[in-house]
Amino acid sequence: VTTVTTVTTAIPVLLYHSVCATRVHRDPWCVDPATFRDHVEIVTASGRPTSTISALADGLRDAGPLAAGVMAVTFDDGFADVADAVDELVRAGIAATVYVTAGLVDTRGMLSSGALADLARLEGVEVGAHAVRHVRLDELPRREAEREVAESRDRLEDRLQMPVQSFAYPHGAYDRHVRASVLRSGYRSAAAVKNALSHPADDPFAIARWTVSRATRRQAVAAVLEGRGARVSDPRERARTRAFRTVRRVRRLVAGPVPPTDLTVPP
Ligand SMILES: [Zn+2]
Repeated sequence: VTTVTTVTTAIPVLLYHSVCATRVHRDPWCVDPATFRDHVEIVTASGRPTSTISALADGLRDAGPLAAGVMAVTFDDGFADVADAVDELVRAGIAATVYVTAGLVDTRGMLSSGALADLARLEGVEVGAHAVRHVRLDELPRREAEREVAESRDRLEDRLQMPVQSFAYPHGAYDRHVRASVLRSGYRSAAAVKNALSHPADDPFAIARWTVSRATRRQAVAAVLEGRGARVSDPRERARTRAFRTVRRVRRLVAGPVPPTDLTVPP
């Protein structure tokens, strides 16, 4: 019997990529610095406590407190300009999680090893892994996807000399095999995209996030922080995954292996 949790509390998890002054690079994912500063003020004005993804995931799995009204701010890919953006958050007392594509560290436009180590040492800042090559893991052979998941963690831990406990799926793309690889590799949480609000019954290994791009309007950010303006991630998704596992086992007994389900979400 599956119980469907009733959602009463939305948890906004913002997803940024880049905060840069120049319009030529990385449009449309780059938010200009003045706009970002404005968003920092909106977060502060919301009065919401902020959390790293690991702390949030602990709350989701009842392994730690889930502060009332908690929210999170995340950055994907590891662009060099994220260092300044995170500094700004830290100055405002806002927690941040930075997911870094391990194979891109020290390449043009991306965080250097030194900048990454500095970020990881900041209070309230977590560094997570975002695969080695930033490819859709659900489209790779399973073993290769597993290597992307595990090796990105190993590489970042070697550089940082500290545990890396959270993973973000490149392009938000995952299926049950990719999710299982993340668990097997020893991560304690994973961030998806979904462009939805997270909630207390969300999957700690596919936490819903809401993308902020250059085109995102200020009012939209404010609305999301008020827990409206975006749908709440489907709380039954996890139950469905679990139910499918049972279906698969039964089918296997009857007919051998089945093709993978696609839980893929667009970026
Ligand atoms: Zn990415």
